[in-house]
Amino acid sequence: MTSTPTVAVVGLGAVGSMALMALAKRGIAAVGFEQFGIGNDRGASGGETRMFRTSYVEGPEYVPLIMRARELWLELEEQSGMRLFHQSGHLTIGDPDSDLVKKVLHAAEVNGLTYDVWDAATAAEKYPQVRVRPGEVVIFDRWGGLLRTHHSIVAATRIAESLDAEIHPWTEVTEIRPGDDGVTLVAGGVSRRFDHVLVATGPWITKLKPEWPVKVGRTEQHWFAVTGEFDYSPDVLPPILRGREPGYVGEQKAYDSSVGSMPGPDGNSVKFGLVRDHSAAGDASIDDFERHVSGQNIRKVEAKILDNLNGVYPSAIRADAFFEGFVVDNQPLIGPIDDMPGVSVLAGFSGHGFKLAPYFGELGADLATGVELSEIAVRIFSPRRFDRAGVDA
Ligand SMILES: Cc1cc2nc3c(=O)[nH]c(=O)nc-3n(C[C@H](O)[C@H](O)[C@H](O)COP(=O)(O)OP(=O)(O)OC[C@H]3O[C@@H](n4cnc5c(N)ncnc54)[C@H](O)[C@@H]3O)c2cc1C
Repeated sequence: MTSTPTVAVVGLGAVGSMALMALAKRGIAAVGFEQFGIGNDRGASGGETRMFRTSYVEGPEYVPLIMRARELWLELEEQSGMRLFHQSGHLTIGDPDSDLVKKVLHAAEVNGLTYDVWDAATAAEKYPQVRVRPGEVVIFDRWGGLLRTHHSIVAATRIAESLDAEIHPWTEVTEIRPGDDGVTLVAGGVSRRFDHVLVATGPWITKLKPEWPVKVGRTEQHWFAVTGEFDYSPDVLPPILRGREPGYVGEQKAYDSSVGSMPGPDGNSVKFGLVRDHSAAGDASIDDFERHVSGQNIRKVEAKILDNLNGVYPSAIRADAFFEGFVVDNQPLIGPIDDMPGVSVLAGFSGHGFKLAPYFGELGADLATGVELSEIAVRIFSPRRFDRAGVDA
């Protein structure tokens, strides 16, 4: 590497934009390439909002990383002067014997966090917007909240630009060629050489590395108008993750929650997701995916909305589908790509990516500048795990 390393970031979604910002803050000459516009809604970060929660069914080892990400989110909001993080908390709802509830409470205990746990009547008093069924419990995570996706990407990119990072929107990278003297990128038909390249292409990683065990998953989201009886502003109503159907106590995998809902940024709508269909992804390419949501699926969601929320008109005012890269073990891919010297990957976030994006961005800057990653980051995230026994690649 020369004395002034140059680093390219391919893909400026949540994680690429945060990596670009982290590099620029370290004084690295960083160049970002994005095939669409900055803050676009076509990738895994589309759809206006994401949940931030420390209540993590996905595993207690994530909680300290999420707490670090939280500090970085607050810093980003302050530095950018933009509204990015509504700190309303987070609600997990489920049967007290369900895997979801037990795992969330276990992760909190391991990490020394204490949540409020309410019965249905107490929860209904605190959040009349939410329909809690008798026998369910509600876990309130006070560190949670709602993140605004497109604005966050714009905020990180603007900060990177203000620190002299170079940004190329609407510029697709079509070739990444490692060589003896750095890595050559072909972007928008022009070749350029870099000391290091970070590939942060979200679900498009399946194009660069079709041999990796990553599937493109499709998730539908549906927006409903609120009718004014209750306060749905994003600073008041927390995002909600509800377990599988009432009474379900079997294993709950992280991504088969039956319902996620969160208020719209305008306080006048609510987003509701029911259909998660990544099993249907098969081996199809990201280019084949359908963003259109069928009338049949919209009606399925409309039939469920009033079982979950009060003060909502049960007709979807908008429905859209978004894509994410899911790795076979549901863990992100972060680390050097062994057969591409000078190239590292930050992709396939398997549903973890938005809340942790500023933390993952820092890992990207570490990778590009030769800083050793923590033991946990190597163990859980490295693409080398597919070479180790026990991961079904
Ligand atoms: C519907 C849905 C709901 C989710 N809910 C949550 C949640 O509540 N909380 C949470 O933490 N996470 C959630 N996730 C996961 C999270 O949103 C993603 O993990 C995260 O947004 C991934 O960001 P990314 O930067 O890796 O990918 P992306 O946002 O897809 O960014 C990749 C970018 O790379 C660009 N690109 C690709 N190829 C090229 C190329 N060759 N040249 C140039 N540019 C290229 C793309 O255009 C894109 O902008 C959810 C995901 C989905 C889909």
